[in-house]
Amino acid sequence: MGLIVQKFGGSSVADAERVKNVARIVTDTYKQGNDVVVVVSAQGDTTDDLIAKAGEVNPHPAKREMDQLMAAGEQISISLLAMAIEGMGFPVISLLGWQAGFNTNSIYGSARIKNIRPNRLQAELAKHNIVVVAGFQGINRYDDLTTLGRGGSDTSAVAIAAALRADRCQIFTDVEGVYTADPRKVEGAKKLDEITYDEMLELATLGAQVLNNRSVEMAKKYGVELEVLSSLNPIPGTIVKEHIKMEKMLIRGVTKDTDVALVSILGLKDTPGVAFKIFAKLAQKNMNVDIILQSFGRDGTKDLIFTVSKDNGEPAVKLLEDMLDDCRIVCNTNVAKVSIVGAGMESHPGTASKMFEALFESNINIQMISTSEIKISVIIDAEEADRAVSAIHKAFIPND
Ligand code: ADP
Ligand code: ASP
Ligand code: MG
Repeated sequence: MGLIVQKFGGSSVADAERVKNVARIVTDTYKQGNDVVVVVSAQGDTTDDLIAKAGEVNPHPAKREMDQLMAAGEQISISLLAMAIEGMGFPVISLLGWQAGFNTNSIYGSARIKNIRPNRLQAELAKHNIVVVAGFQGINRYDDLTTLGRGGSDTSAVAIAAALRADRCQIFTDVEGVYTADPRKVEGAKKLDEITYDEMLELATLGAQVLNNRSVEMAKKYGVELEVLSSLNPIPGTIVKEHIKMEKMLIRGVTKDTDVALVSILGLKDTPGVAFKIFAKLAQKNMNVDIILQSFGRDGTKDLIFTVSKDNGEPAVKLLEDMLDDCRIVCNTNVAKVSIVGAGMESHPGTASKMFEALFESNINIQMISTSEIKISVIIDAEEADRAVSAIHKAFIPND
């Protein structure tokens, strides 16, 4: 018995049958004597559909209005789930983000949670209500609605678990846990029993959609252990925590991220301070730069190549064209980042060469490489990304 936070993603509440299925999981947990807070996402593709609707009336809507619109998706699912739970004879109340005390900053579209005022949540739990909370949303200091960025409901759930010091935080989704690669795309992907916060954070940041990276960051910060599991198949999932049993696995997962643009500045004057000026300018505009490659100078010039997210590609080119003369700046959005992640690689020489060999054997050219203690990423042609993930996965995690 204790306080359990359960989060259900869009596909878990996609239609009436799925909503009733979630109601059964939640009420079973409640019947066992637990307090239950449930966080839900918008049904199925609702958020995508809302974004498409916005595009029909204005190709560049204000971000504030986008948040007003997108927050509607979760409002539908919390009320429907509450009705389903009520229909099964259990005490329940649904709360929007602001009613549940979610205070955020004012970055519409990717707001960060500043704090949760837990009074209302606690009062409802004290009345023995099952509390159903809208994920992905909060309110800023101007009383405007904000959203937390795509996949943000995971973060809402972790934030509640941290604020209420919950005994468990379960993230229910449409696969049975965290796998060594996307199980829908990669044959032979294996479910992991456990994974560390650091490895999960890398996987999530590098493209594994199963958990939002900010939710993992927050779980690590507040020591919230996560359980990722299926809402359709009641079997144990994957535990995400600080320390895990050492498994004989060199790498924990392979991911791809196609939200990448490669910006190349060719023939840049080779003078001190030029890199500083370029990256300071990009930072000023909140453009997050990922991998950076600089060539040796020759004839007084050099090339500087870096990656940003796709939507920042062309704006970065424009910004730099206004600032730099005498060089050519080009943007290539037809690239992807493929990565391997695992704490084991730090102490195993040859990990990089094994990854590069798998790419070589598949005749895939590497355009850029970046490494850290627990990950290696390469930039390759977007068309090759799925083939690359499968080849690398096969090299490191052979089929049984
Ligand atoms: P939800 O709607 O429940 O939040 P998401 O669609 O955001 O679900 O995330 C679940 C999906 O993440 C899965 O359907 C799967 O295709 C994808 N995925 C990508 N990489 C992985 C991975 N390494 N392990 C598990 N699932 C992954
Ligand atoms: N509904 C939001 C989205 O589609 C939030 C979430 O699913 O976590 O991104
Ligand atoms: Mg999600």
